[in-house]
Amino acid sequence: MKQAQLEKPSIRQTQLMLKIGITGGIGSGKTTVCKLFETLGIPVYYADERAKYLMQHEHFLIDQLKKNFGDEVYENGRLNRALLAEKVFNNKPKLELLNSIVHPAVYRDTERWVEEQKIKKPPYLIKEAALLIETGSYKSLDKLIMVTAPLEQRINRVSARDKISVEDVMARVRNQLPEDEKIKLADFIITNDGDIANLEKQVAEVHQQILNSLNQT
Ligand code: ATP
Repeated sequence: MKQAQLEKPSIRQTQLMLKIGITGGIGSGKTTVCKLFETLGIPVYYADERAKYLMQHEHFLIDQLKKNFGDEVYENGRLNRALLAEKVFNNKPKLELLNSIVHPAVYRDTERWVEEQKIKKPPYLIKEAALLIETGSYKSLDKLIMVTAPLEQRINRVSARDKISVEDVMARVRNQLPEDEKIKLADFIITNDGDIANLEKQVAEVHQQILNSLNQT
């Protein structure tokens, strides 16, 4: 992605509830950070998890996937992820087609979720996604939190968590924008190179800064 296309998100004055994005490279600790925000009462939308759910349950999306990638991507009603991945592997137009089908569905689902959260009146909401920047969806958010960690730690953590080889983790890392490209767009940076207590402290600080910024508007 060309850097010129990247724009920093800004608070939209008309919006009632602040939407904050959390992103970061694979294994940086996004989910761990989000769970900590949840303990502070902040609702989190896990976009990657939801995308998987929608691809299995949303009829319109399923129809679109079958139409564009063949009926065989669903086997007895279950998405054959490996087959779909194979069809888009090393095929940029096909990958873009897949994204152009899945991302609007996730966007619509996010909007529905945001509406549902309003009743709880949280001070702000979080949307977590690995490719928030790459997909451009960060532009619909008001602030961006970037979670970073040294590459070696990320690789070791993912390799241990998913029981996969270092090479397989590296292949996934290569699909993402480099961290320093993303850091430029972040309003807050959480550095996950210590223990969980250290992470908790940083999350509490960012949370407080967000609350302070809300009180000022
Ligand atoms: P992915 O990009 O694959 O979705 P992620 O960025 O959401 O990953 P996590 O799943 O939060 O990353 O963290 C990766 C692994 O590292 C998990 O097993 C998590 O428990 C562990 N982990 C995260 N942060 C720490 C830490 N500070 N200390 C020890 N383990 C950690």
